[in-house]
Amino acid sequence: VISLSIEGGTVLTSDPARPILDPGHVLVEGSRISAVGAGPPPSGCNPAQTIDARDKLVIPGFVNAHTHLCMTLGRSLGSDRSLLQWLTQAQLPFMASMAPEDYALAVTLGAVENLKSGNTTVCEVFFSNRYTDGADELAARALADTGIRGVFFRCSNDEEFAPGFVEGTQEIASRSRNLIATWRAHQRIRVGIGPLVPWTATDEYWADTAALARDAGVGVHLHTAETPEYNELVKSRTGRSNVEHLAHVGALGSQVMLNHCIHLARHEIDLIAEHGSPVIHDPTSNMILASGTAPVLEMREAGIVVGLACDGPACNNTQDMFEVMKNAALLHKVTTRDPEALTAADVFAMATRDGALACGLGAEVGSLAPGMLADIVLIDTMACHLRPVHDPLAALVYSARAADVDTVVVGGRIVVRARELLAIDETALLRRAQSRALELRRAAFQ
Ligand SMILES: [Zn+2]
Repeated sequence: VISLSIEGGTVLTSDPARPILDPGHVLVEGSRISAVGAGPPPSGCNPAQTIDARDKLVIPGFVNAHTHLCMTLGRSLGSDRSLLQWLTQAQLPFMASMAPEDYALAVTLGAVENLKSGNTTVCEVFFSNRYTDGADELAARALADTGIRGVFFRCSNDEEFAPGFVEGTQEIASRSRNLIATWRAHQRIRVGIGPLVPWTATDEYWADTAALARDAGVGVHLHTAETPEYNELVKSRTGRSNVEHLAHVGALGSQVMLNHCIHLARHEIDLIAEHGSPVIHDPTSNMILASGTAPVLEMREAGIVVGLACDGPACNNTQDMFEVMKNAALLHKVTTRDPEALTAADVFAMATRDGALACGLGAEVGSLAPGMLADIVLIDTMACHLRPVHDPLAALVYSARAADVDTVVVGGRIVVRARELLAIDETALLRRAQSRALELRRAAFQ
């Protein structure tokens, strides 16, 4: 039985077999796509629900492959500083005053922004000073309740990091196991693990992480080579470069996502490629924090899968993947002075199927094709900044914005319709986030 038919729109499938269908249709049965084709759907398919997609682009939902929704309440705090200044002077002191419920509030607001922006899958790189009070369970529940799909990476460190953000090695192992067990059977939320930063994790921690990833089959997510200062911290602690250290502790491989990878030596790119680790590129965050330009072209040439991400709402400062696609294309065009360095087609693939591959969901999401999960986004093109449309792909990447997202379907269920989130009172959420964020700021910096 066809539960949903989306028809009359310009379908950008992100499926190399049939990239653009104009017009085209997408049919959904339950949680999965059953057919994608040109023109109107076959007569007699009698869908339970029909969406008229005329004047709309129809795309697979974006995979925002690295974010920190736990930091959403710190949005616009501590701007115009370097990564380590922004983190240690503004964000960590602010987060240190957060209660467990504040993490749930932050994740809810961040996930709502992601959904309304067309990001149907997020990799939440979560960290907290309130793990003792179950902040991870509360936040994972908040993420699930918004209707989004996600991998919730429970990140931690067992040596000095910031006061309150360090756990014992044994606590990390047992709490990670508990969280993985709780979410094992959930349809939309997976759990992953990893250290937040690579220089304050003991060898024992790394051994536990590798064992847990192997035994439980969960993904690992790491910040890697983000700035020269960051690399220096790894070097002074371990005597090795960042990627050499990851290889040394057994933290490279296809289920280990490496985020940023900006300041790499050539042999580190080769090490990543040899082990098959995917990389995530966050051009907006890298520019806002003045971190540098990741060698994305060299990594792609070496055969590394590179996905795209916004990074957290506190260092971007939005969850707009349209902006991230455009920034990725522009950054690499201008630094190489080659207009074909990254094309609209390249960055659209990176924001969808490459991101899905990177987070281990490549067989489930990232393109519109029969058998894939029905994570579908409709973008309204009846706007001055989008018309006329000569090239739908260029319109999507270079003209469209998150605010143009009209309808969002996750696993066959409509969660955003006419730009409104159906399940949550957005105004109440925004008011609560604003008043609570001010209280936290006063408590942290009085
Ligand atoms: Zn990050």
